[in-house]
Amino acid sequence: MQDRIFGHIPGVEEGQEFPDRTELRLSGVHRPLQHGISGSKFEGADSIVLSGGYEDDQDEGDVIIYTGHGGRDPDSGRQVGDQRLDEGNLALVVSCLNGLPVRVTRGHRHRSPDSPRTGYRYDGLYRVTDYWRERGQSGRIIWRFRLEKYHSAQSVPSKSSFQPQLLKPLLVHDVQTEYLPAPREETYIQRIIRNTEKARLIKGLYKGYCQVCGQRLELGGTWYAEAAHIRPLGEPHNGPDTTDNILCLCPNHHVLFDYGAFSIDDDYNLLGIEGRLILKAEHILNREHLHYHRNHYYRAV
Ligand SMILES: [Zn+2]
Repeated sequence: MQDRIFGHIPGVEEGQEFPDRTELRLSGVHRPLQHGISGSKFEGADSIVLSGGYEDDQDEGDVIIYTGHGGRDPDSGRQVGDQRLDEGNLALVVSCLNGLPVRVTRGHRHRSPDSPRTGYRYDGLYRVTDYWRERGQSGRIIWRFRLEKYHSAQSVPSKSSFQPQLLKPLLVHDVQTEYLPAPREETYIQRIIRNTEKARLIKGLYKGYCQVCGQRLELGGTWYAEAAHIRPLGEPHNGPDTTDNILCLCPNHHVLFDYGAFSIDDDYNLLGIEGRLILKAEHILNREHLHYHRNHYYRAV
């Protein structure tokens, strides 16, 4: 089996069209003939095809809200069951967490002004910037992935930087073989740290101490903390940048919170990890935002 290629396929131009899925497969852009997501949960997703199969997909060109795989009736295209965070969906999660570029191809049946009239068109590289769960138009649970286009001015990480790190499972017979040096990797910012005035206010209120673990990162005379928006800012979540929607967290708890490893109940008990949110009397949280986070991000439901 060929290695999975992340990034552009050599010899294929952005905007190049293909008459059908077979040609698309032969080009190397998207190898599965049926599935919309190409990838594995160990390596990540390298490619998706928007083919009009999912009623909840949204496409604004540079930003796509893509519906995950599963639970769909193949004849009607209707969502008849809940989706789970497995297979291709989990591959997109790995791409999000590791900042891997995803090739996007639009098909003629995809309902968007950006769709080609016939066949399939390769539309370049996107990155997965967020994922969450919600009830789709059918009332069933769907997983959604926000993809944002890489523009030519932004450097797309080179292919060599995508050496899978957490990814391949350790085989038993590998355990006692020699240790190879870890591949060099570029790091780049995946999560956007938003330092708004309200964010600074909340960090100041807690003096940088994390509301989950009570720890603060000391940096020789100063400190570092992050402001976490409970309901994310921006489309499609539209959380407000207000102090009732902001927590002061250490980077570890910020990542765990953003990716739904824990959440907070209405009495400020932590869900998914032990303990209770540290909350100052003057810091009033909006329970609707807590509810939103539990419903869309918290994984252990
Ligand atoms: Zn913490």
